[in-house]
Amino acid sequence: MSSVRTEKLRVFKQKNNLEKSDLIATESATDVEYRLARQVVVDFWKNGKIDTETVCDAQPMLKRNATHCGVPTGEECPICEINEIYYVTYVFGPRLPAHGRCISSKGELRRLNARKAQLSAYVIEVCSVCGWNHLVRSSSLGGN
Ligand SMILES: [Zn+2]
Repeated sequence: MSSVRTEKLRVFKQKNNLEKSDLIATESATDVEYRLARQVVVDFWKNGKIDTETVCDAQPMLKRNATHCGVPTGEECPICEINEIYYVTYVFGPRLPAHGRCISSKGELRRLNARKAQLSAYVIEVCSVCGWNHLVRSSSLGGN
């Protein structure tokens, strides 16, 4: 492959990568609820009311998805305070896997949003080191 083609592919991949702002464009009241719930969990953990195994129970697949198709947030993990947390988006609905489809590109998100069927999207924050995970946002896609 020539260097020009390699460069075009690199630029295309960068443009097609999901960014934090792509996940679900609008802020909603439920975002606030999830943030409050997250803070309660973190506070409980800090006060010793919940153990680390309970708050850091991400399945190996979720940790892998955070690394391979997650979006870096620029925020530090609230538990281990070492690793950056990633947002992982799963979409559920008709003709999608029962365990949801993990979204890794803008194109994929656009295609799913263009579907006639109503789909549900969930954004989860994940630390791939300690396994911290929490729901950030839920939204609907498609239904056009
Ligand atoms: Zn962590």
